[in-house]
Amino acid sequence: MSAAKSSTATGTTATADRPGDHKDHRPGYRGRFAPSPTGLLHIGSLVTALASWLDARAHRGQWLIRIEDLDTPRVVPGAEHSILATLSSLGLESDAPPLRQSQRSDLYREALDTLRQQGLAYRCLCARSEVEHPYAGTCRDAAHQREPSAWRLRLNPDDAIDFDDRFQGPCHYPNRALGDPVIFRRDGLAAYQLAVVVDDLAQGITDVVRGADLLESTAWQLQVIAALKAAPPRYAHVPLVVEADGAKLAKSRHSVAVGTLRPGAALVQALTLLRQAPPEGLEDSTPADILDWGIAHWNSVAFLRQLVLKLP
Ligand code: GLU
Repeated sequence: MSAAKSSTATGTTATADRPGDHKDHRPGYRGRFAPSPTGLLHIGSLVTALASWLDARAHRGQWLIRIEDLDTPRVVPGAEHSILATLSSLGLESDAPPLRQSQRSDLYREALDTLRQQGLAYRCLCARSEVEHPYAGTCRDAAHQREPSAWRLRLNPDDAIDFDDRFQGPCHYPNRALGDPVIFRRDGLAAYQLAVVVDDLAQGITDVVRGADLLESTAWQLQVIAALKAAPPRYAHVPLVVEADGAKLAKSRHSVAVGTLRPGAALVQALTLLRQAPPEGLEDSTPADILDWGIAHWNSVAFLRQLVLKLP
């Protein structure tokens, strides 16, 4: 997941005005949950949604839902409605009408133009299937003009990024291990690494709480934010729920759609997976009461510095 993550590297290359430095963060607390409508909400996503909601509420903050339906070929009809209905049945409602990335292409295009004007973006003609991670920089100095092309952000290969993840601790990624990220796709759609940054900034998000599978993405996103000359949010990566043997959630009782469970049972299962130790019988309370218990007992130390949470 993150070979470059190190709990001992505490800012070897950081300077005071680096992205990730706490003094630059936005004041207050505004969190978000940003599901991709590519399927039904399952317990792994509920764990992330609940962690971000509880963290927001425990900080007396706001919480927004954003629908990340940018990757239109992967969007499943009806999934957005079903995810929102499931979250609502659990008492997890957005404090503002949910934004949809599919309606924000102009903003992403503007951000690309800003980066291009500074010479920070370059055209890439490499076929996706041929590119390895980290990207070797094949098109970096080619000055391609041909359309269609993807666009990549130009990172300084001799530099590194350090940030302090609230749940995962100090993280250190050399740019050589990251490679230049795609910020616009060849099919004309904004890439995740750009869209997520544009939206987090536009929505004034102060705290990104999301799955640990996106920890490495944070290293790219902080550099997109720096290139856009904006202040970054704080980041907190929640461990991923995996099977007892470490495998991805299989088609088992644990990957059933949350919407098919009793709301109380679903919330208590998510609290249990987050090691919040809910008391016996809590699942018989109303979702509102379960959430109140969750806020009062929110304890991120229970899963601190863990990238995965294994099912029993
Ligand atoms: N849309 C992403 C997902 O469903 C989450 C992106 C984020 O939280 O930054 O995995």
